[in-house]
Amino acid sequence: MPHVAVLGVNGRMGRCLVRSIRESADLILSGALASPNSSALGRDAGDVAEAGPIGVTVTADRVEALAGADVAIDFTLPGAAVENLEAAAARQVPMVIGTTGLQEAAQAAIRRLSHGLPVLVAPNMSLGVNLLFSLVDRAATALGEDYDIEVFEAHHRNKVDAPSGTALRIAEIAAGARGRLLADVGIHTRAGQTGPRPRGGIGFAVVRGGDIVGEHRVTYAGIGESLEIAHRATDRMTFAYGAVTAARWIIGRPPGLYGMADVLGI
Ligand code: NAP
Repeated sequence: MPHVAVLGVNGRMGRCLVRSIRESADLILSGALASPNSSALGRDAGDVAEAGPIGVTVTADRVEALAGADVAIDFTLPGAAVENLEAAAARQVPMVIGTTGLQEAAQAAIRRLSHGLPVLVAPNMSLGVNLLFSLVDRAATALGEDYDIEVFEAHHRNKVDAPSGTALRIAEIAAGARGRLLADVGIHTRAGQTGPRPRGGIGFAVVRGGDIVGEHRVTYAGIGESLEIAHRATDRMTFAYGAVTAARWIIGRPPGLYGMADVLGI
């Protein structure tokens, strides 16, 4: 049975991952990594996840956390995710990365390390959002620049990056469908005398509050009509199930950089 290391075990997602692995009949938790300052160090990972003892002690030592793992799943912070991937690459442990807010330097490091290791990066592991990505592409291609694209996202008050990785991916796909780069057409702030909306621009609206798990809505506003495509996550276990599915899928793949579309075949 495949052995899985969970990196970021004390986070909201890390706990869901431990529960998801525990519920599965075909996976074994083999390691659990937390930060060097974590309150979870030395505790049983199952207890941390409120899933009952599982026999794996939470550690801040990457070598210990990755020992015996067939695959690792990372939901931490951008800097930690790259360091974790370097450690996984040194031990040839394939890795699934759900961490968002990865800047260009981090993305470049991931691309470089994926030449020698199978790595899957997905800003959103849910089936619904990955289907939404392909609908966004289709709508942006069909409607063209006569329709203004706006991306709305809402998340809980503790989220540390904005716009969400999912919102950025939506906008990247929509820009690409029109032969543009998001860096050239993204509109991240509006205040004061903004002037008229630039043709082809892609705007973002961000809400942070309470315990919102994750909402994304893409609007294509034309003259006389608008189209909306929306997704609402109500339980973060949906991301954990997706990550665990990706972890099963990536074991034994050749080195390379993969996404959820590869896993889901969409
Ligand atoms: P979170 O609750 O803040 O969890 C992150 C955890 O990482 C923290 O609790 C921290 O706990 C731990 N950590 C920090 N540095 C670490 C290190 N060097 N090694 C190991 N663990 C470390 O955040 P979350 O809601 O779980 O989200 C985590 C990431 O996943 C975010 O980037 C979020 O946007 C993303 N996310 C992605 C998806 C998706 O589907 N791809 C879905 C939800 C969230 P300790 O200090 O106690 O170790």
